[in-house]
Amino acid sequence: MNTYFIDVILPIPIQKTFSYAVTKAEAEFLQKGMRVAVPFGKTKIYSALVLDIHQNQPELYEAKEIHQILDEKPIVTEVQLQNWQWISKYYMCALGDVYRAALPSAFLLESETVVLKNESFVTEEMLTDEEFLIFEALQHQSQLTIHQVVDILGKKKVLPIINELIGKNAVYVQEEIYEQYKPKMVKYVRLHSAYNLDKDLQGLLEQLSRAKKQREAVLGYFQLAANKKPIKVKDLENNIGVSSAVIKSLVEKGIFEFYEIQTDRVNYKGETNVLKELNEFQEKALSEIKTSFETNEAVLLHGVTSSGKTEVYTKLIEDNLNSGKQILFLLPEIALTTQIITRLQNYFGNQISVFHSKYSMNERVEVWNNVLNNKPKAQIILGARSSVFLPFSNLGLIIVDEEHETSYKQFEPSPRYHARDTAVVLAHQHKAKILLGSATPSLESYFNTQNGKYGLVELKRRYGNVQLPKIELIDIKEKYRKKKMKGHFSDRLLTLIDESLENKEQIILFQNRRGFSPVIECTTCGVAPQCPNCDVSLTYHKYRSELKCHYCNYQRAKPNSCSACGSSTLDTKGFGTEQIELELKELYPDHAIGRMDLDTTRGKHGYQKIISAFESQEIDILVGTQMLSKGLDFNNVSLVGILNADTMLNFPDFRAHERSYDMMVQVSGRAGRAQKQGNVAIQTFNPYHQILQQVSTTNYAEMYKEQLQERWQYHYPPYYRLIKITLKHKDFTKVESGIHWLAKALQNVFAENVLGPTAPVVSRVRNQYIKNLTIKIPPKQNLAATKKQLDKIKTTFQSVKEFRPIRFIIDVDAQ
Ligand code: ADP
Ligand code: ZN
Ligand code: ZN
Repeated sequence: MNTYFIDVILPIPIQKTFSYAVTKAEAEFLQKGMRVAVPFGKTKIYSALVLDIHQNQPELYEAKEIHQILDEKPIVTEVQLQNWQWISKYYMCALGDVYRAALPSAFLLESETVVLKNESFVTEEMLTDEEFLIFEALQHQSQLTIHQVVDILGKKKVLPIINELIGKNAVYVQEEIYEQYKPKMVKYVRLHSAYNLDKDLQGLLEQLSRAKKQREAVLGYFQLAANKKPIKVKDLENNIGVSSAVIKSLVEKGIFEFYEIQTDRVNYKGETNVLKELNEFQEKALSEIKTSFETNEAVLLHGVTSSGKTEVYTKLIEDNLNSGKQILFLLPEIALTTQIITRLQNYFGNQISVFHSKYSMNERVEVWNNVLNNKPKAQIILGARSSVFLPFSNLGLIIVDEEHETSYKQFEPSPRYHARDTAVVLAHQHKAKILLGSATPSLESYFNTQNGKYGLVELKRRYGNVQLPKIELIDIKEKYRKKKMKGHFSDRLLTLIDESLENKEQIILFQNRRGFSPVIECTTCGVAPQCPNCDVSLTYHKYRSELKCHYCNYQRAKPNSCSACGSSTLDTKGFGTEQIELELKELYPDHAIGRMDLDTTRGKHGYQKIISAFESQEIDILVGTQMLSKGLDFNNVSLVGILNADTMLNFPDFRAHERSYDMMVQVSGRAGRAQKQGNVAIQTFNPYHQILQQVSTTNYAEMYKEQLQERWQYHYPPYYRLIKITLKHKDFTKVESGIHWLAKALQNVFAENVLGPTAPVVSRVRNQYIKNLTIKIPPKQNLAATKKQLDKIKTTFQSVKEFRPIRFIIDVDAQ
């Protein structure tokens, strides 16, 4: 009889842990945080994680034996386990969900895993006999399941063999594999340094008087050089019509020379590895942060855009490196593909590892192992929200940049955790410090500085004493009335654009909606084409003459007539980025217009390509959605225009005003960073809106005060906490009866603090009907007790047979 047992977490959404039987030798070998392959149900095999080793026989079932041990030593640390347990409890999700979210999928081999051959693997002599058998099978069959591997090898214990194959890069497990971003090198041409542009032109031309083509090439070069941008070889060829042979001979003569620019590093070429010297304000902020860390675990750095927060971070990073500590630098996902990596790599070189979803599984496994083993390469981790799950062994500092970003909160799938808040807990568990940084702190974090939970440090000046941008509100109601609008542009905005273009400066225009126009509508009967799967009108994309659903990606060709009444007069309503782009192309045919939104950044490096093109000034005017507000640093942008501020402000959400403020201040922050004060023009129908007034004076304090007042009055965070419950099912009446039962049950306990039931703005998505309830938790109400009560109600709900198929989603601190 067995007397040794282990409790394990399975990577499935089940709350409890499971006990398995092990031998005495296994019990002695095993440690918390190691993986074991275990059977589950009739046929399943999972990679489970050991949580406990003991001698208490489970009472309710007979413990099965494990298949085998998968690790030699723990791959998950004790602090990590504590952190996962906190997540599971706080966000009311299964520990198995956290485990599954945390580990790179290669660590989670299970019976359902699909194994594929790595086509580029050729060194078959590296494989053992058993490994070779599997590899060979994959020559005949494109993929294998774990069960098939079991059959091929005629034994159950196959996971370590597959692990080996993965380690040798011979196979991979199915998952979307992304290519890593490879910087693009662009070939440029310039006049050899022996020649000086202005002085020697005449002499040069005389020298070339008998080589007509070369002479033309030099003249063409000067034509392009007039606008002072770097000249691409390609441009000289295509725009001026110089053949590559001619350019080559000029290079051979020593008149031209080729050079390359790595397009994502245009801003940072020539920089050394020395940290920048801080100015007096940064210096002061740095020392205040250090002082504050003496008494606070968490500090908020509220620094205006372009105040040089990043440079302050680097000093703290350096300090931690010097004392041998690991650093976690959290960024919103999207900011990660851009400049910040390059910038920090310039300082810290290969002490940095990057971790985010665009990286391949193998790269993620590598980072995991490097962090776990505290390798020199993994001293600084730059990552998106999921990097809070990494196995830090020696964490000293966490930095959460752009801490207000809502993308730090995960919604789907569970765990629905907030990476910033999880990081605060993680820092505490590691006895580390955490710095939150933003130009527009979330009300929650700022509130925490006011009630003494976090320290607060402010940085109020832009680096180099560049003034904050001049913000101008343009009343477009007035402009429309006076017929001073061209398309969606007011005369004033066009004047500002003209001025910037004349000065060879760049412009960012912000329209928080992609597509051409949100809807097309029949002018006769008013019907707008709807998505068949969701309760929402389709968005018109003119370029492909398509109607698309932004919720489920359904698409169809634009109809020529109304499906309801047959009339052929369909009109567009509202406007999106695509339409703005088209209008601009007509208004400014001689300038390069770019567009950045979900539609243009989809490809592998789509986002990076547009950013690089804008950085190297191939694009004069960039139109984009809120993507454009994310921490980018362009030094030649002098004007930012917001085409219509009202849609954001009127969004039905208690955070709409705060978010509008954040977004507008952040996009404004892209103007005039390097040399001179920038301009921001905000078009609106309602220039007296309090938020717009606050944006125009960058008055965070007033925004904070006013919004806080409203949150208090209407019982919202940061005073009250919110737990949102969502029910989903394809049968409308099921959801209806479920939500009404649930509402009553919750009201019995939480009385007037239950909001709803309500339907979201789009109440059916992918054929699933959606209903919500929100529980508001007053400041003094016990959080743990509240969650316990909710859990109980959920259990009762799910014990009702007709409700069981309904999806029940709990979102704690819903955004
Ligand atoms: P923030 O993160 O606050 O928006 P950044 O750290 O991006 O600001 O700094 C804005 C710009 O000023 C960057 O181009 C940065 O290189 C430059 N800068 C900031 N601090 C310094 C410094 N101490 N020395 C030189 N340049 C600096
Ligand atoms: Zn019609
Ligand atoms: Zn849809």
